[in-house]
Amino acid sequence: MVDLLQKLREFFVTPDFEECKKILCIQPHPDDADISMGATVSKLSEKGIKVYYLTVTDGGAGSKNQEIIGPRLSQLRKQEQQQAAQILGVHELIWLDFEDLGDYTVEQVRAKTVEYIRKIRPDIVFTVDPFLDYEVHPDHIKTGMAASQATSLYRLPKLYPGSTDHEVKAIAFFNTAHPNTFYEIEQRHFEKKLMAISQHKSQFDEKALKILSLYLSERSKHDGKLIEPFKVLPPTMLHVMPEAIKF
Ligand SMILES: [Zn+2]
Repeated sequence: MVDLLQKLREFFVTPDFEECKKILCIQPHPDDADISMGATVSKLSEKGIKVYYLTVTDGGAGSKNQEIIGPRLSQLRKQEQQQAAQILGVHELIWLDFEDLGDYTVEQVRAKTVEYIRKIRPDIVFTVDPFLDYEVHPDHIKTGMAASQATSLYRLPKLYPGSTDHEVKAIAFFNTAHPNTFYEIEQRHFEKKLMAISQHKSQFDEKALKILSLYLSERSKHDGKLIEPFKVLPPTMLHVMPEAIKF
């Protein structure tokens, strides 16, 4: 198995993040990418790489307060995401506006995602890991699955009319239990990420922000370095490849 993995790694080479011209980050809610890969976004945008955020839901369910949920919260969260994106240097925000915690399907999100992959032509698609053990949030499971399927199947006209000559070179999962890539960041990128997260005031009060900062600070330590972890796979490995989990 080790030999086979070695051979697969030689055969399927994924690009370094910094070799990319454009990346597409597909998130369930406004705040997920900032929390899980905000420092990476900050560093890559600083290097001139165009970072696109595609947010699947409208964020309208993210509160325990019955008074605010729905369009009002959705509008507020879009403003928060806008401010956070400005701090991190995100090039463009795209909203699919599916209802947060709604009954939309993976297939619906997949079709829209294929459309945007063909339009934006990203080198790498980033998204939440839908294979995370114990992940129960339906928006996260559906978004990760739709983004993965789209990244595997975006050339097929059955899913979205037309065709493309573009090749997505890798998919990178964040919030993953099987990281194979530890992208090194600097303290200033981490600080910017925290500043971006603090814009999501509807989601985090001061106490929650403090706990999240401590958690993320621990999670970003690896081998004496400051990092953000990802599981990076060549799109080919998203189908009939039992080796993908160890890749
Ligand atoms: Zn989320």
